[in-house]
Amino acid sequence: MNNKNLLARSLAAVWHPCTQMKQHEQFPLIPIDHAEGVWLVDCDGHRYLDAVSSWWVNLFGHNNSRIRAAIQLQLAKLEHVMLAGFTHEPVVKLSERLSALTDHQLGHCFYGSDGASATEIALKMSAHYWRNEGHEHKTQFLALAGSYHGETLGALGVTDVALFRDAYAPLIRMSATIPAPDLRFPGTQEGSLTALENHLEQHHQHLAAFIVEPLIQAASGMIFHEPEFLREAKRLCEQYQVHFIADEIAVGFGRSGTFFAHQQAGITPDFLCLSKGITGGYLPLSVVMTRHSIYKAFYHDNTARGFLHSHSYTGNALACSAALAVLDIFESDNVINANRERVPALNRLTKPLQHHPAVKQFRNRGMIWAFDVTGTSSDFARCFHQAALKHGVLLRPIGHTVYFMPPYTITDDEFELLVTATLESLDEALS
Ligand SMILES: *Cc1c(COP(=O)(O)O)cnc(C)c1O
Repeated sequence: MNNKNLLARSLAAVWHPCTQMKQHEQFPLIPIDHAEGVWLVDCDGHRYLDAVSSWWVNLFGHNNSRIRAAIQLQLAKLEHVMLAGFTHEPVVKLSERLSALTDHQLGHCFYGSDGASATEIALKMSAHYWRNEGHEHKTQFLALAGSYHGETLGALGVTDVALFRDAYAPLIRMSATIPAPDLRFPGTQEGSLTALENHLEQHHQHLAAFIVEPLIQAASGMIFHEPEFLREAKRLCEQYQVHFIADEIAVGFGRSGTFFAHQQAGITPDFLCLSKGITGGYLPLSVVMTRHSIYKAFYHDNTARGFLHSHSYTGNALACSAALAVLDIFESDNVINANRERVPALNRLTKPLQHHPAVKQFRNRGMIWAFDVTGTSSDFARCFHQAALKHGVLLRPIGHTVYFMPPYTITDDEFELLVTATLESLDEALS
């Protein structure tokens, strides 16, 4: 199939996500033929550095030989079996290893296929727990302003992004939000905690859970807060008997600098949602982990007290084998320490960006870099994205915030190239 043909057929037959399709009258789709390491290669041989890890999923580069080998081994044995009434080694091993990574505090793993499903599972499990415990009025949720927890109807109820939500407002049971902590603005952390305490005090009898993206509110523009915020928020939730849900779909698996972001606060959430990086970007998989005291409230002779939620692909064996390969890489390459040791040198490479007159609030946490651009038009994100593509880099700013979330396997040279292309794209987008 020649490229022109492929693009036309894609526009005719494929409804692309997060896209106003009409904009493709001006901006062509990019047909990717293959990929290697941080590089996506299109059908004409143009290369694009995947600086957003293909929407934050790809941790160890494309065409990773170790993940591929693990999937191939599993593929020859068992691709899938329904997980109700059956089990298999990859799902058992994965659950045990994830549990060990929480110091066995979160010993029960419930699987879904994507991030939004994990959010749905955590919300349902929390409310159902309270019902089973005789607190059937605890059915409300609380989220931070600017939160993003996925785009199914239940998840949109705790997602505070107007563009994704407003068209569906009549279909959604909206949760309350409190102001978010934001390290760019002093005092917001204290303000947020005060609002949390007030809300808990007034509404705890109806509140099942508080859901948070620990340390980094990613989709609303890489907004950072301190571990101290999580520590205090968790303490308040415990005091008022409200569950604390850590949505680490974006920030888990080392992105924040530790394996899980909540570890930096020394807390254990009641529910931990994981997806995105879990299979290194190979196959869809998500999981919600919880502690034994919550699991126990469902364990009963009465069927309806059980958690009867299900997805057809729950615990898919191929996806679990990819996730096991990802955990193997973390262990054998000591990825968390290796990343930590690299960050100072990578930060030095960003100096020219930090000194750019239009760049404000340059920030880094773990393997995330972000900065705000001043003097932009409302069209900045699209202009910058297009300019970056011309310079061989895939970047998708959020509003006027540009961020890097590259695969951990990016080399120093590739990172330097990314910085250079970003500078050039910035000047183009601003001119
Ligand atoms: C991406 C994301 C989700 C939703 O995951 P999907 O797989 O896109 O449904 C939920 N929460 C956070 C924090 C995310 O970044």
